[in-house]
Amino acid sequence: MIGALENSAAGSARRILIVEDEAHIRKFLRIALEAHGYEVLEARRGEEGLELMISGQPALVILDLGLPDIDGQAIISRLREWSTTPILVMSVRSDEQEIVRALDAGANDYVTKPAGIAELLARIRVLLRDQGTEDRSAGIVRCGPLYIDLARRLVSLDGEPVKLTRKEYELLRLLATGAGRVLKHEELLTQIWGPEFARETHHLRVLVSSLRHKLGDDPGSPEYILTAQGVGYRLLSDP
Ligand code: CA
Repeated sequence: MIGALENSAAGSARRILIVEDEAHIRKFLRIALEAHGYEVLEARRGEEGLELMISGQPALVILDLGLPDIDGQAIISRLREWSTTPILVMSVRSDEQEIVRALDAGANDYVTKPAGIAELLARIRVLLRDQGTEDRSAGIVRCGPLYIDLARRLVSLDGEPVKLTRKEYELLRLLATGAGRVLKHEELLTQIWGPEFARETHHLRVLVSSLRHKLGDDPGSPEYILTAQGVGYRLLSDP
C-alpha cells in the first residue's frame, strides 16, 4: 500500500488504482500514467485493492485478472456490490470466456497484455468521460441508527454489529442500493433465490420478518423496512 492519502475522502477525478501483482507492470503503468497527469495508487493483491477502493476512492481501477489471493472475477463482483467506478481489466489470457465473464461481472472494458500505453490511455479517457460527474459514494447507507457499510459488508445498529445470514444481508443490501425505491417481490426473489423462485413470495415474507426481527423493526410502524402492500419493500434510508 502506498503512503497516506491526502484529500482521499473527496476522491479525485484523476486518481487511478492499479491492482497488479507484477512489479514491472505496476512501475510501467505508474510512470506512464503520472506522465499524463494522473495520480496513481497501487495494490499488489486483491484484498489490498478492495481496501484502497474504499480508502482511496479512485476514479478508475485497472485490474489484473490473475492475482495471487483473490480471483479477479470475484473482485469485480465484490466492487459492483457498492461501487460504479469504472473497471478496466487487464488480462494476459487471450481466453475470450475469461473476458466475457469479467464484463458480465461488471467490468467496463479490457485490454490484453502487453497493452500499448496509447491504447490504455485512450480507454481510460473514454471510461472517465462516461463516468462524468456521477457521485462516487463510499458505499455507506444510513437509516437513523442503522448503518450499512456495503463495501465491507458490515451492518450495525446504534454502533453494535448486527450478525445477519447471507440471505438477510443480501436482502438488506438490495434494499440499501435501491436508493429508497420500492423493490418488487419478483425482483427480490429473483436476485436472492433465482428466477425459478420469482413467485414464491412466502420465502420473502419469512426473510423480511427475520431481518426485521434482528433490526428490532416493528412491522406495524417500521423505522427501516417499509412494506408496499402487495408490491414489495423499500428501505427508509436517510437522504
Ligand atoms: Ca498477474
